[in-house]
Amino acid sequence: MFLKRIELEGFKSFADRSVIHFDDDVVGIVGPNGCGKSNINDAIRWVLGEQSVKSLRGNSMSDVIFNGSMDRRKVNTASVTLVFDNSQHLLHIDYDEVEITRKLHRQNGEAEYYINKTPCRLKDITSLVMDTGLGKDSLSIISQGNIS
Ligand code: ATP
Ligand code: MG
Repeated sequence: MFLKRIELEGFKSFADRSVIHFDDDVVGIVGPNGCGKSNINDAIRWVLGEQSVKSLRGNSMSDVIFNGSMDRRKVNTASVTLVFDNSQHLLHIDYDEVEITRKLHRQNGEAEYYINKTPCRLKDITSLVMDTGLGKDSLSIISQGNIS
């Protein structure tokens, strides 16, 4: 199983819809200071169920929503989708490709969760990824500063 694609829109510094395609397993994210590497890491853990605002480097959950910049107004919704190749059925669901989505709306603080575009509970996502070694606290994802 591997991560094929991440789609971000309105999440942290990713104001516009951005799609990152991966042809192989992700080993690391590199780039200049402040370009958004940790925000990508945060986005992945967020979709996999991260509820700790502190570990998402914010003061409240709505801090994950793009908050505006010098030349852009803030947006109202953060949305991130992870698309997995599930042809080996490591995720126990009967699909060869699995899309997991999390959204958060600024106005009412409402969260939305989807598996393959079908609304679900956060619990459905955490139980789906639990057995794969992929969960938010797993060693599959190591944030900056946690290597040592
Ligand atoms: P470093 O190399 O210093 O670790 P990085 O590549 O990990 O940097 P990030 O921490 O992912 O960079 O991104 C930092 C940028 O994201 C900052 O410019 C910050 O202002 C911006 N940012 C974070 N949250 C938001 C938000 N909610 N709205 C707009 N911009 C945000
Ligand atoms: Mg960083």
